[in-house]
Amino acid sequence: MKEQDCLRRFLFEELGLRGEWVRLEQSWQQAKQYQPLSVGVQEKLGQAMAAASLLSATIKFEGAMIMQAEGNGPLRTLVAQATHDRKIRGLARGDTQISAASLVDMMGQGRLVITIDPKKGEPYQGVVAQQDEKLADVISRYFVQSEQLQTQVWLFANETHAAGLFLQELPAHDSYKADWERVSLLAETVTQEEMLSLDCEQMLYRLFNEEKVRVYEPEPISFECGCSAEKIESALLTLGEQELQALLNEQEEINVDCEFCGEKYSFDKVDVESLLANQLAQTKSDTRH
Ligand SMILES: [Zn+2]
Repeated sequence: MKEQDCLRRFLFEELGLRGEWVRLEQSWQQAKQYQPLSVGVQEKLGQAMAAASLLSATIKFEGAMIMQAEGNGPLRTLVAQATHDRKIRGLARGDTQISAASLVDMMGQGRLVITIDPKKGEPYQGVVAQQDEKLADVISRYFVQSEQLQTQVWLFANETHAAGLFLQELPAHDSYKADWERVSLLAETVTQEEMLSLDCEQMLYRLFNEEKVRVYEPEPISFECGCSAEKIESALLTLGEQELQALLNEQEEINVDCEFCGEKYSFDKVDVESLLANQLAQTKSDTRH
C-alpha cells in the first residue's frame, strides 16, 4: 500500500541536518471539495497545505499553525492550517478560477504570515515578504530569517496529491557548509512526479543513498475543520447588534456556511437575541470584577 496522508521525519545522523517528508491524498481531496478551484489554484493551495503539515511538526505544544499568504493579485488569500495532532484544513479566496503558472502572477505582491496559536498562551506571528515564483521559496526564506537556520522547502501538488520535502540544519550544531550544500543540491534534483508517487523511503534512497539517513515512524494526517457553532457565534457577535438586526430585518435567519468544510450554521431571531443577551450579561459581569 502506498504511503499517503502522513508525515515522516528523518535525520542525517552524521551531519547535523534534519528533514521531513509529507504526502497528502484523501486529506487534500477532502479539504478542497467545498471550493471551486482552477487547476492552477489547486496546485498552490495543495502546496500550502503540504507546507502547513511540514511546519506543524515544529509545534511543541497543543495548538495550531496557520499559514496565510496575502497578495494584491487576483488570488487574494491562501490559508492553510495544521494542528499539533495533524488535523489540516485550507482555503483560497479571491479569483479562485485564475490560471497562471507562478505564485506572483496569481497573488501579486504581498506577504506570508505564519501564526503559531497555542491553546494556552499568546499567539506568535512572523511575517515575510512575498513576491516569488514559488511558495516554497517564500517559506524557505521565512525560516532562514526567523530562525537563522539554513532551511529549504520543496512543494508539489496536483488535483489528487500534495507533497513536500523539508531540510534544515539542526540548531546549536556546527553543520559544515559543505554538508549542507551537498545535501541540499541532491534534494534539489527532486521532481514533482517522484514526490507525488514514491514513498518516503524510496524517495530518500533516490536522493540520498550515499548518506546515512534515519527515518522515523509515519505520523498520520487527516482533514478536520474544527469549526463549531460557538466559533461562528463569536464571529457573528463581532458584527455588532445593529448589523445583526439589519440582517434579520432582510431575512428570516442568518445563514453561515463554513468556508473550509461546507458545514451550514443558521441563526434565527431568537438565537441572535439570546446571543446578544448573553454577551450583554457577560460584559456586565466582566465590568463588575
Ligand atoms: Zn468548518
